[in-house]
Amino acid sequence: MAGGMDLPKAMRENAGMSCTVSPATVSSTEANRLAADLPHLWLPYTQMQTAPFPVEAVRTSGSRITLADGRELVDGVAAWWTACHGYSHPHIQQALIQQASMMPHVMFGGMVHEPARRLAARLAELLPGDLERTFFTDSGSVAMEVAVKMAVQYHINRGTEGRTKMLSFRGGYHGDTLGMMSICDPEEGMHSLFAGVLPKQVLADLPVDDASTAQLKALLEKEGHTIAAIVTEPLVQGAGGMLFHSSEVLRRLRELCDQFGILLILDEIFTGFGRTGTMFACEQADIVPDIMALSKALTGGTMALAATVARKSVFEAFLSTDGGKALMHGPTFMANPLACAVANASLDLFEQEPRLEQVARISDQLRRELEPCRTIPGVKNVRVLGAIGVVELEKIEDPDVLRRAFVTHGTWIRPFRNIVYLTPAFTITPEDLSRLTSSIVTVLQDNA
Ligand SMILES: *Cc1c(COP(=O)(O)O)cnc(C)c1O
Repeated sequence: MAGGMDLPKAMRENAGMSCTVSPATVSSTEANRLAADLPHLWLPYTQMQTAPFPVEAVRTSGSRITLADGRELVDGVAAWWTACHGYSHPHIQQALIQQASMMPHVMFGGMVHEPARRLAARLAELLPGDLERTFFTDSGSVAMEVAVKMAVQYHINRGTEGRTKMLSFRGGYHGDTLGMMSICDPEEGMHSLFAGVLPKQVLADLPVDDASTAQLKALLEKEGHTIAAIVTEPLVQGAGGMLFHSSEVLRRLRELCDQFGILLILDEIFTGFGRTGTMFACEQADIVPDIMALSKALTGGTMALAATVARKSVFEAFLSTDGGKALMHGPTFMANPLACAVANASLDLFEQEPRLEQVARISDQLRRELEPCRTIPGVKNVRVLGAIGVVELEKIEDPDVLRRAFVTHGTWIRPFRNIVYLTPAFTITPEDLSRLTSSIVTVLQDNA
């Protein structure tokens, strides 16, 4: 086990809360610290020359992460929004161990297995309407790639020509692969940096009011015949800055899709499995998408697994007796039995434990305890939906400064863009949740 004294120098400094090295003042000896101290790792969305050294985790339990130097952090992020039952839940761990001793993995070509059959059947049961056919993949981005391929091939299979584009919305995020970048928010998807590489799609504003709805309608009247599917995250655009919209927006999108012969793809990768207060966000709008993507909390944050679920009518467009029309996709590790077993265990917990009531309780507490942030200078908005609490600021000068301050307060909170947010495990205790909210109030006051 790594102990505190084994930690590289930069890491100890980080742990001791030395001040941030700002890019402008980096000297040649300070530069490359992270790159040199972590000589073989390449971290995500990280400038490896100037970023502060990451903390090192060694153990997790419930809503707590233990670091290599012995400190314990209360987790406000739930491992990028995945660990809905808290970390290391015994029921999930047992399912993992049992499946590992039976059959960790087999190929899914020409071969199926019970964990996948059972999981797909349970998803069909849980999901609204006739969303009943699941294609498994291993990450959210790829589940969305499959959704897009399904939508395009659906129209081809039905003999409709020219419907090859996706219509997506400003503020949206659907993953990091090239295909997904093309339907992300243009800034988030780095459209100018990767110009020439990304396929050209159709971008619009979410129809949140009369003006934007009229605009979208006009756009569809002009270009609707080129569009295979409209894609959106329902109720919350997560990585775009935890932007909320009403369920009315989703009902409008469903109507427009029906009117223009376009499929509706809902990316419930973040919102799925209770995060917004209902099992799936689309339930609040009482609509059924044609295709839905799920991932993040699917395995309770334990294994990489994703699902693209199609309605009966979408699946039936892929059936033929002449050898054509099959969906042309197949990841090596699709429907990994360990991941499916763990996802089944996660669904057991949703049945056996009062997850949605816990979400409602978290919602109330977040609303109460984040309220004082409204009076802190620089705070623009405080909003809560389900187990998502957001404090939006005018601007965050350096997120790393806040991130470190949170660690000093014994909390793991990761501000990005101009927001500080909480997406805790649904099992978090009221005391731990209070620690998270009070550390936000304190740190924002200190940095106001
Ligand atoms: C995280 C996320 C994705 C991408 O999932 P990965 O597993 O990171 O590829 C796609 N869509 C939404 C809404 C997400 O939150």
